[in-house]
This record gives sequence, structure tokens and C-alpha cells, in this order.
Amino acid sequence: MSVGQKLYEGKAKILYTTEDPAILLTHFKDDATAFNAQKKGSIVGKGEINCAISTHLFNLMEANGVPTHFIDRPKPNEMRVKSVKIIPLEVVVRNIAAGSLCLQTGLELGTILKHPLVEFYYKNDQLGDPLLTHDRLRLLDLATDDQVDQLIKMAKRINDLLSAFFQQCDITLVDFKLEFGVDSSEQILLADEISPDTCRLWNQNETDSDRRVMDKDRFRRDLGNVEEGYRQVLERVLRRDEG
Ligand code: UDP
Repeated sequence: MSVGQKLYEGKAKILYTTEDPAILLTHFKDDATAFNAQKKGSIVGKGEINCAISTHLFNLMEANGVPTHFIDRPKPNEMRVKSVKIIPLEVVVRNIAAGSLCLQTGLELGTILKHPLVEFYYKNDQLGDPLLTHDRLRLLDLATDDQVDQLIKMAKRINDLLSAFFQQCDITLVDFKLEFGVDSSEQILLADEISPDTCRLWNQNETDSDRRVMDKDRFRRDLGNVEEGYRQVLERVLRRDEG
């Protein structure tokens, strides 16, 4: 597949057109950013690792009836995806209190939530991706009421599937961010990626609160061994798929 024009370059991925207008090519970069790109760096091998983990998790979703934009993975750090119109929302699902939830509510890190929380953030770097109320979401016409209902249902289903899968890898799925797109027949598809860049993942074999971190918090909080954390996640995901 020949690479077409660069359509968009984000913080962690580049999107190219292909000869088929219905298909785009995503290139996963080693670049890492945090705190709305105020912190920048590179994680060796991250592009390939995240592309591989996302591929496995998108396949898991499809196998369980969750439609995604994933088509295939022609190269280790490249994914072919269906072209969709991205809904400008970051849908965050939380099982355990961490990150901004602790900062904004005072809940202690590690508090197990009674029910998974589904939150919507406005995907807008200039505004710093603010948390949205349902009324603000409607006010801005970011999604229809019916789409919001569908997004909540899909996010909960994806959480059930991912939590159970990671549990089998001895990994706790703390929280994660999803993005969705709409295809030409108005169907909502899971898009973007599912990787240690977008999930908080805790190693169940470690009790120490820093050592257990296997995700981008290693980069955000300068915990070191960032690549090793990501690699461990991939190893366990692959082992689980073979098992
Ligand atoms: N997240 C993400 N991209 C963002 C913001 C958050 O992938 O722009 C993920 C983050 O990795 C975590 C979850 O969403 O798994 C919840 O993040 P939180 O709101 O706690 O924000 P943070 O503490 O990361 O700023």
C-alpha cells in the first residue's frame, strides 16, 4: 500500500491518505507528550508496541461485537483504519481513582469506585480538554442525545471486555480514554488507539505504588523504565492471546 498525503499529525500518530478514500493509514510515533504537550520526549519502540497492543485489543473488541475503525496492521508501527468523522470528545472510563479524578475530587489514589464512571471531555487542546457536563455537551452540539446514549453503552461494554482481558494478564485496568468516529452510514465506531498511552495499567504482581505503574504515568511522573513498562504490557497481551 503506497503512502499518500499527510492528512494530520498529532502528538503520537500521523494520519495519511491512501489510494482508497475510505481507508487511512495511521503511523504510530515514538514521540511522547504529557500535560497538554508541555512535557515532551521519546520512548524507544513505543510506536511499534502501541500499534501491536492496539491491534490485539481492537481485534478483541471486534470479536465481541464492538465495531472499530481497525482494518489491519501492514507494518509493525502502521495500522490501516476506516476513514471516520471523529466525534470531538474524549470518553474516559474509570474503575479506580487516579489522575485528574483525585486532583479534582480529593478521592485518594487507588480508591475502588462503586460503579465505573464514564466522563466526557471536550477534545480541544486550546481549551485544555475541559470536562463537560451533559448540558454543555448538548449546548455545543458535540453529539446528539442518541449518540451520547450509544457512547455510554459502548464505553461500558468496552470497559467490561478490557477489564476482564487485562485481569487475565495480571494487570488492573484503572482508567482509560476512548475516541469514537462516525462512518458514512452514521454508525459509531471505536477509533484512535487503546494502549499504555491512553490507559492506566497497574501490575498486580507489584505492591509498590510507583513500581506497579506500566503506562504513560511512568513518563508523566519521571518514574524511569518507561519502555520496559510498555514492553511488559505487550508481552502479557501476546501471551494471553496465545494461551
Ligand atoms: N487520557 C488520555 N489522553 C488525554 C487525557 C487522558 O489518553 O488527553 C487518559 C489517561 O492516560 C488516563 C485517563 O485518560 O488513562 C484519565 O486521565 P485523567 O483525566 O486522569 O487525566 P491525567 O491525569 O492523565 O491528566
